[in-house]
Amino acid sequence: MKKHNFSAGPCILPQEVMKKAADAVVELDGSGLSLIEISHRSAAFVEIMENARSLALELLDLKDKGYVALFLQGGASMQFLATAYNLLERKAGYVNTGTWSLKAIKEARLYGEVLEVASSQEQNFNFIPKGYIIPKGLDYLHLTSNNTIFGTQVKEFPKTDCPLVCDMSSDIFSRQLDFSQFDLIYAGAQKNMGPAGTTLVVIKEDILGKVTRKIPSMLDYKTHISKDSMFNTPPVFAVYVSMLTMQWLKDMGGIPAIEEINEKKANLIYSEIDLNPVFSGFAAKEDRSHMNATFNITDDTLKETFDKQCKEAGINGINGHRSVGGYRASMYNALSLESVGTLVDIMSELERKG
Ligand SMILES: *Cc1c(COP(=O)(O)O)cnc(C)c1O
Repeated sequence: MKKHNFSAGPCILPQEVMKKAADAVVELDGSGLSLIEISHRSAAFVEIMENARSLALELLDLKDKGYVALFLQGGASMQFLATAYNLLERKAGYVNTGTWSLKAIKEARLYGEVLEVASSQEQNFNFIPKGYIIPKGLDYLHLTSNNTIFGTQVKEFPKTDCPLVCDMSSDIFSRQLDFSQFDLIYAGAQKNMGPAGTTLVVIKEDILGKVTRKIPSMLDYKTHISKDSMFNTPPVFAVYVSMLTMQWLKDMGGIPAIEEINEKKANLIYSEIDLNPVFSGFAAKEDRSHMNATFNITDDTLKETFDKQCKEAGINGINGHRSVGGYRASMYNALSLESVGTLVDIMSELERKG
């Protein structure tokens, strides 16, 4: 039986994408060769890379607006330092909304002054700070759009007079935003786009070239831009599967279409959490993530029954992160409304029958 996969990452991908990816590992489009044994310089793979880069900009509505898309390695964690390395000359601002923000701050501190312009750490990151003052003269401001572990999501981004950098690893391509308000977006593929192994980086080119330090080639965005994201051997499988997922999203109507489904899924689980006394939500209501719903069970004696029923129904990956406890249901793009319905049915049964 195929499970309902609520895993936080690596996570669920569309079934049809999995099938195409599996086929391509055996033989790519009738070529007599596997996707993972052909040269990355072959016409077939160059086309895949170009298609992936183009789809990313198209889905974000950033075509012909001065942006480039790259598929790099090292995960979002590598971008914590790459962003600072390429952009931090003197002082940068960071909004601290969770574990991933903290890791980004730690890396940036190696390269310059880091100002925590706002933080929700004192309340174990259960909300998104708002209305904070952004000092003038920052090299950039860094935010995490969706806090995968704590289940909070930035609904409105601050207006800045400096470049805006955003880690969108866990909500990329999930909701409509004016993406041109960002100057650099990065996202590890394995939350909402593809398998682990590649990271999408979308950069507005004119923000580069402003730091005086020497940048190692592999960390320098300009290297990767000048080589069309093929400076060295790219992670061909991860890029291919990401391309297929983006194509799947485009074919269903792009971000507006998936956002509608994502809203339905989020409304379904949060209304159950709010109405059902057996459960309580972790994140502040107005900041709740549409991707990762964090919640607790209020009656510990029911925990065993709940866990057992979830297991029997084939629900996978809803244990909360150790820094929050409780449960976390991750509802990325490929998770169906039916899967959320299955979980919600178990939650409401638990209240009725105990
Ligand atoms: C998972 C995650 C990361 C880390 O990604 P890696 O690709 O494992 O380095 C960074 N930021 C956010 C928001 C994440 O959810």
